[in-house]
Amino acid sequence: MTASARLLIVGPQGSGKGTQGVRVAETFGIPVVSTGDIFRANIKQGTDLGKKVTAILDAGDLVPDELTSEIVRDRLAQDDASNGFLLDGYPRNTAQVAQLDAFLEERGESLDAVILLDVPREESLERLRLRAIEQGRSDDTDEAIAHRLDIYEHETSPIIEIYQERGIVDRIDGVGSLDEITERISTALNARGVGQQLV
Ligand code: ADP
Repeated sequence: MTASARLLIVGPQGSGKGTQGVRVAETFGIPVVSTGDIFRANIKQGTDLGKKVTAILDAGDLVPDELTSEIVRDRLAQDDASNGFLLDGYPRNTAQVAQLDAFLEERGESLDAVILLDVPREESLERLRLRAIEQGRSDDTDEAIAHRLDIYEHETSPIIEIYQERGIVDRIDGVGSLDEITERISTALNARGVGQQLV
């Protein structure tokens, strides 16, 4: 029997999925694969990929699916992801779900759980305003935030239904202290028996 913790965390911008994702991944000893972080690191380092995606990120648009999926496939093929991983920010639309499915299927794998962080729109907007002041991310302008939230609603929300049909979604109340929310996620994953032999 092989233990695995192949996870996806989804939630609107400002839901705290980045922060919670890191905490959950630490618990299971698996790497976080955040497409946003990968793109930002490439932009910072001035790589070819970085140059290609700078304007896209600043506008709050999506990087083309095939390019994004190729980057994720390369990352998941690395040794440290062989026992599991936590995806943050990918897949972000139904086309990417199909591309991820195809890749995982080739490896005889599938996602064990999808953590959906539920946060009311007002609360997430408030958190984004704070993050804009604290981190100064170039895509945290009012315009780019509104555009990203729109894309979340129209393109990303539908992926939740796909995973719900597979019975792997855990909807978590994302309002509360950081520790409370981490605890809620751990409880839900434990109830599923996710990664029990890894910890
Ligand atoms: P947020 O959740 O606040 O939008 P992310 O760090 O997840 O932040 O993503 C930042 C940007 O990176 C997105 O607006 C988009 O331009 C790009 N990006 C990240 N993940 C994907 C993806 N799966 N497909 C296409 N573009 C992506």
